[in-house]
Amino acid sequence: MKIRILGCGTSTGVPVIGCRCEVCSSDEPRNRRTRTSALIQSGGKNGKNILIDTSTDLRVQSLKNDIERIDAVLFTHPHADHVHGIDDLRVFNLIQKEIIPCYGDRLTVERIKKAFDYIFTDSEYDGWKPSLSLSAIEEPFELFGLKVTPVGIYHGTAVITGWRINDAAYLTDCSSVPPESLERLRGVNVLIVGALRRRPHPSHFSIDQAVELSRKLSPERTVLTHLSHNVDYVKDGDTLPSAVELAYDGMEIDA
Ligand SMILES: [Zn+2]
Ligand SMILES: [Zn+2]
Ligand SMILES: [Zn+2]
Repeated sequence: MKIRILGCGTSTGVPVIGCRCEVCSSDEPRNRRTRTSALIQSGGKNGKNILIDTSTDLRVQSLKNDIERIDAVLFTHPHADHVHGIDDLRVFNLIQKEIIPCYGDRLTVERIKKAFDYIFTDSEYDGWKPSLSLSAIEEPFELFGLKVTPVGIYHGTAVITGWRINDAAYLTDCSSVPPESLERLRGVNVLIVGALRRRPHPSHFSIDQAVELSRKLSPERTVLTHLSHNVDYVKDGDTLPSAVELAYDGMEIDA
């Protein structure tokens, strides 16, 4: 299984529109971050592509990474930066000629159905739209031979979904992990976890908090994502412990 980081930027993306800070004006390509999303590639001859979130930048990410199939989507939560690319899934329907199955927790499913009502309404008026099924998931299930486990995590006061896929975990927009979810994460080899910046934030881990979670779970590799323009790939990356690294758009992780 391979995991491709399609985007590792916070909700504004980096550079931020109108900002002239050192990171936003940097020439370092790894400081250019589209909105947070990842692709799980199951491997093998009939390998499947599972997309985590339909970020605002889904179209650009698909073109940049030569993605020509999306076999399923796992949603983490319904914040705009994680779902507003949903309409771009329609091109994959055209290629695959199949409904794309999408999964999320109950609240996420409800919010997506409400916010993108036109996708789930039968009306000629709306023209060409994605063809999706959307299922609420609370328990582990099997998807294309992979074990997929939803993991409840806090994002400020909201509970959202992190995903464990076999022995890799993807926890974006996380501010704390309750004890029962730590149990679901035991034994992960790869941890991809959100870390907004150095300073604390009410609804996202800081870099230090993400590193602390990594110490608790001790995976072989930890990758920090959902980075803001307060994080410099080179300067901040150099200060991390040896098994922890910053994500960059296009990064490929074996898991
Ligand atoms: Zn976010
Ligand atoms: Zn900036
Ligand atoms: Zn969020």
